[in-house]
Amino acid sequence: MGKQEELKLHKPWFCSKCGGELKPVCSGTYECTVCKNLEYDDFGKVKKYIEENGRQPAVILAEKTGVAIATIDTFLKTGRLEIPDGASVYIKCERCGCDIRYGRYCPECMKILAGDVKKAFFNENLGEKPKKKVASKNKDEMFVKEWLKRK
Ligand SMILES: [Zn+2]
Ligand SMILES: [Zn+2]
Repeated sequence: MGKQEELKLHKPWFCSKCGGELKPVCSGTYECTVCKNLEYDDFGKVKKYIEENGRQPAVILAEKTGVAIATIDTFLKTGRLEIPDGASVYIKCERCGCDIRYGRYCPECMKILAGDVKKAFFNENLGEKPKKKVASKNKDEMFVKEWLKRK
């Protein structure tokens, strides 16, 4: 995670209930060392909301969690969140404008930009193109990668 991204996460430093110190328990979630109260940074809030309510469009996530759309966008660009196959709205490759599910560039552009297939493969900006695109019905849902991996 880059430093800039970390700044935008609004990481909690102290327990909102007792003012106790927090320790990180998992990505985006912090536990009070005194009263065990859980606090969340922006990523934690979005992750928790998706876990409790299922996949949601970015606009709904922003509205319900109070996390800025720009921050959710950053989660997508850094691959912490991804839009599943079959959604109708994707984020765009910053070079050619094609649809990608996460990241900043599609694999083709990444290869060109990196100048080497191996370098492209390990680049954090590498995105993935959706395998299928469904018109209208499904909204621009997204889900948390880590959350899916756990299941
Ligand atoms: Zn506390
Ligand atoms: Zn591209």
